[in-house]
Amino acid sequence: MTTNRRTALKLGSAAAATLAASKAQAQKDPDVIVIGAGLSGLYSAMLLAEAGATVQVIEGRDRVGGRLFSARNVEGNPEWGGDSILGGYGRMQDVSANVGVELVDHQSRRDLSPEAHKDPTNTELALRGKLIPKGDWPTHPLNVMPEGAKDRFPGRGFFQAVIGQNNPLEAFEDWLDADSAQFDRSIYEVFKEIGWSDEAINLNYNTNVQYGTSAHDISSLMWFFTQAWFKLQGDLDRVAFKAPGGNQSIPEAMAASLPGEVHLSKEVIGIRSEPGQAEVHCGDGSVYKAKRVICTMPIPTMRWLKFDPLLPALKAQAIATVPVQKITKIIMVPKKPFWEDDGFSPAMWTDTDCGEVRALREGEDANQITCLMAWGRGYLADKLDSFSDEDAMARVIADYERIRPAAKGLLEPAGIKSWQSDPFAAGDWAVWSPGTVTTMVKALIDPADRIHFCGEHTATSNRGMEGAMESGERAAFEVLDVI
Ligand SMILES: Cc1cc2nc3c(=O)[nH]c(=O)nc-3n(C[C@H](O)[C@H](O)[C@H](O)COP(=O)(O)OP(=O)(O)OC[C@H]3O[C@@H](n4cnc5c(N)ncnc54)[C@H](O)[C@@H]3O)c2cc1C
Repeated sequence: MTTNRRTALKLGSAAAATLAASKAQAQKDPDVIVIGAGLSGLYSAMLLAEAGATVQVIEGRDRVGGRLFSARNVEGNPEWGGDSILGGYGRMQDVSANVGVELVDHQSRRDLSPEAHKDPTNTELALRGKLIPKGDWPTHPLNVMPEGAKDRFPGRGFFQAVIGQNNPLEAFEDWLDADSAQFDRSIYEVFKEIGWSDEAINLNYNTNVQYGTSAHDISSLMWFFTQAWFKLQGDLDRVAFKAPGGNQSIPEAMAASLPGEVHLSKEVIGIRSEPGQAEVHCGDGSVYKAKRVICTMPIPTMRWLKFDPLLPALKAQAIATVPVQKITKIIMVPKKPFWEDDGFSPAMWTDTDCGEVRALREGEDANQITCLMAWGRGYLADKLDSFSDEDAMARVIADYERIRPAAKGLLEPAGIKSWQSDPFAAGDWAVWSPGTVTTMVKALIDPADRIHFCGEHTATSNRGMEGAMESGERAAFEVLDVI
């Protein structure tokens, strides 16, 4: 083909247009795309922006905050998700102050009366549908507590103290050391070794299970770390901070502090790494490009992502197999203080469909109970999810009323939240099965091609909100090292 002047001109303008487009693209493409506007994503974006990197946060939901989600339709904004900011949460406390959120200490409201911290058994015990007055418990026929502990209230407070007495870790951060792998077996085995019966394990651990579905499927190494970490929180400062307006106010203020807007309703469906750049593909057809990507998505939601190239085998295995806790919560608002009629606390620890019911005091008056929150965990969460929302709430209220006839007709359902039915969470916190800790935690953290990973499931020295922040910080520094 001969090139005349006209064609040359045409080619020249096409080349110029391409150049202009790629320049605009270069200006538009940030250094880093952060997927997820929960605590870990927002904190990593804040640190990257502070260090001078350009960053775009994209979020699948139509709100920021992720697993911080406040029930703003209920007095005092109780939390569907992350609740207490504890004594050792340095990053959470600092960042909240820096973005203008003044935290309020709710520790004195965590127990039923201002004097209740002296009485950790202020929650009532109800087994097989019947309330057991505290005085009756030590000699009650259903009391299967271990010898020497017949007067103890069953559940987490008790077994966590026992784990503390048998914790072999010298420093809790050692939980990921190769030497600690010897402790990575089921917590069931540990309880058996210290002489507990199956009935005692079932009552204390498997009822209202907080980590895993039973003592068989949870790592004792995870518990040794978690127990020592929780103890440290209280030893540092016995506080339980919350944000006015609900904890969701914290990520909202963090997002507002970023130089650019968070792009909401951008459900990521795939990430492609290429030489020189990464592409993030969203369900609405949009594509974001950057030098690096930080993926903060919770473990089960990553199972729906297309990674190109495929992730390394161990990382793919960790994403496919590390379990997360199942939790379904129900909020009930009392029409009147029925507990004044029957003389028992409205907070109950049960083996019925009510699960564990907490009495929350979130309003102006720190002594007034504003709502009851029922926690269904593990298989109970699955069971509640198998009903319609209305039927699940009716079921929990009916069970509560059976135990507490004084509550009949006085509990108004105010909402239900199943974290595992939420497509942007698909469950709650990561839990570690026996024999997986020393390999799977690292596999979840490791970067793959141009993708870096954070989120509470990748924290190594903290759990919960502070774990999310720790992981966001680590990912931001990881990226700053390579861009
Ligand atoms: C019931 C409950 C109680 C809790 N109690 C406490 C407590 O008292 N104290 C404590 O410290 N912690 C608590 N936590 C844990 C704490 O809330 C979490 O550890 C923390 O908020 C997790 O932050 P994250 O950034 O790791 O994840 P997330 O907050 O889940 O952020 C991940 C983000 O990714 C987004 N995302 C997911 N999929 C996609 C997709 N395909 N495309 C785009 N975006 C996507 C999500 O929408 C979300 O915004 C609790 C959590 C729950 C649910």
